[in-house]
Amino acid sequence: MTVASVAARPANRSLPAALAEAEERYVRANPASQRINAAAQAVLPGGNTRTTVYYAPFPLCIRAGRGGHVTDADGHDYADFINEHTATVFGHSDPVVARALAKAIADGLTLGGPSLYEHELAAAIIARFRSIERLRFCNSGTEANLLALATARAVTGRPAVMMFKGAYHGSLLTFTPGPSPINMPIPFVESRYNDRERALQDIEANADRLAAVIVEPMQGGGGAIAGDKAFLAGLRESCSRHGILLVFDEVMTSRLGPGGLQGRLGIAPDLTTLGKYIGGGMTIGAFGGRADILARFDPGRPGAFPHGGTFNNNVLAMAAGLAALTEVLTVEAVETMNTRGDALRRRMNEIAARHEVALQATGVGSIFGLHFQRGPIRNGDDLDAGARGHEKEIAQLKSLFQLDLFERGLYVTRRILCNISLATSDADIELLLAALDEFLATRGDLIREVVN
Ligand code: PMP
Repeated sequence: MTVASVAARPANRSLPAALAEAEERYVRANPASQRINAAAQAVLPGGNTRTTVYYAPFPLCIRAGRGGHVTDADGHDYADFINEHTATVFGHSDPVVARALAKAIADGLTLGGPSLYEHELAAAIIARFRSIERLRFCNSGTEANLLALATARAVTGRPAVMMFKGAYHGSLLTFTPGPSPINMPIPFVESRYNDRERALQDIEANADRLAAVIVEPMQGGGGAIAGDKAFLAGLRESCSRHGILLVFDEVMTSRLGPGGLQGRLGIAPDLTTLGKYIGGGMTIGAFGGRADILARFDPGRPGAFPHGGTFNNNVLAMAAGLAALTEVLTVEAVETMNTRGDALRRRMNEIAARHEVALQATGVGSIFGLHFQRGPIRNGDDLDAGARGHEKEIAQLKSLFQLDLFERGLYVTRRILCNISLATSDADIELLLAALDEFLATRGDLIREVVN
């Protein structure tokens, strides 16, 4: 589908009217997704088992994916800019990964012992991430963070953990938009992202009770906000001084450089958590770092920390991850993907500037966020300040953007946190840029009424 082949949009008098029309068209265009959602409502709360993929009035049900595209239940084809919320780095069903999976399935699943694969996958990860000397696998990024924080508390004998407003460390460690009521009952000390002075003061004031400081080197779910090097280096220095473990949550950001974002920044945390793509598209998580800390899990040592987990070394994730990391996501491929992402973000910002609207692309490398806001965005407080008084309208603009882009065959998230994968084509990037240009041309006045 090309932009020119889609009928011109009607001019809208108001944002609510534009959104209502877009929603009406969405409902008409997606009867199968609507039907599936209605059936799911009977058995899953809100028809949903994963909050991240919900949006009103109902989300598109995705039935297939190939390369850089996905197809929904109504047969629409989309260029995929969601890419499983950054977990799809290789494109859908990359043939090398698919072959490794087919072999693992043929050899038998859930075999009840160490597999042929986990030490090789661990070695492939350790070869890339300089601060990871030893690691352990688990089943998700959430689990990796829970284990890293539990480890830090056990090793230091201190109870509390410092985190940053706007952080997302998993479904039980959620601080965006605010702290979740079902977070783990750990005493948390909240500080401000990218505010070095405040963070160092907060560490100083709580040093004797802090086991760990956990931080995303780029806040992902919080809006693709790049961490400032001086801020992160300050955390490193202060944690070392006070015997606090610095945990980098690289579940999302590890795809931003061959050695993760920590490699690009040249900062070594004590512990790193990983997930998403490192299982080649299968369920996985990992936490690793200093050998002396991870040694506490050596089951041959007296008093070792127990860490079972039926699927910690499940052969599908181990085999797919190994093939993906060693054969598909080469160092060169990571660098090319992220360079292309940098160029895409730059061009998006150029388009926004040309239309003179309050819109900016944030992020690092292959991950970008779009925000209807001018001025620097350093943390959740900046985002809150930018939206103050028109939070509802900004949410409406984001909904309108998503629905308009769906019509142009572009799969984007409602909060407009997107990314490219190795399988994203140049043509699809051009389509995205054309759709952004068109959105700002047709909806620019609606944006200007909300933000200036
Ligand atoms: N940390 C970060 C930074 C994440 O982005 C995510 C997932 N989006 C997680 C942790 C949780 O990972 P999972 O969804 O695999 O539990």
